[in-house]
Amino acid sequence: MKISQLKLEELRDMFIYVSKKMIESKSLLTQADKAVGDGDHGVNMARGFETVRQKLEGHSFTTIKELVNTIGTTLMVSVGGASGAIFGTFFTGAAKDLKEEQHNFNMNTFSQMLFNGLKAVKQRGKANPGDKTMVDALEPATLKAREMTSFPLSRALIDVTEEARKGVEKTKNMIAKVGKAKSLGKRTIGYPDPGAISTYLILKYMMEFISQKIPN
Ligand code: ADP
Ligand code: MG
Repeated sequence: MKISQLKLEELRDMFIYVSKKMIESKSLLTQADKAVGDGDHGVNMARGFETVRQKLEGHSFTTIKELVNTIGTTLMVSVGGASGAIFGTFFTGAAKDLKEEQHNFNMNTFSQMLFNGLKAVKQRGKANPGDKTMVDALEPATLKAREMTSFPLSRALIDVTEEARKGVEKTKNMIAKVGKAKSLGKRTIGYPDPGAISTYLILKYMMEFISQKIPN
């Protein structure tokens, strides 16, 4: 069995699930940021996604665009660190070109969202691939999604998530060139980038939610 698309209500439930799981990932992300940054990434993401969870649970949305845009603006205002601006920009960027009449979330929609979200993040943060940021997980995931637009969500997300995971692994060999980690320079070698881990986790939790919907 497979899942090819989600309805708006299911998409909202998926992001509520992702939010809860990101909150649970707080200490893992804190540890990661302690190694290469100032140690606040877990707190930042947990705070942001707790606010997202509350916003989503208390609201019924009329379009995917409105839902995804709400996630972005909520992260922007509720998270203090660079990650608030970066992940907020990802979601508002992802929402930007969605049409009001797009009510089904499928691999085509998701690929479009990733592409536009990545573009917005690069414009805003000016990080290039190889700079040891979340872009190093997001870009390979986005490229894989583009190859898999004709596949069911439940199938494609497995490969897209795997690309992000490999991207996280690659950040271990990189020297941080932007953000707080930059000042540590070569000392960041050997450690993965916290924002790249968050990017991978968001995709992984989406995949988890969708795979749980497949009937046995
Ligand atoms: P801060 O850096 O303010 O302490 P966080 O620790 O919450 O904020 O987030 C750090 C993460 O944000 C990094 O691991 C990196 O992935 C991401 N990041 C920081 N600056 C940029 C940027 N200019 N472009 C893309 N991602 C960035
Ligand atoms: Mg930090």
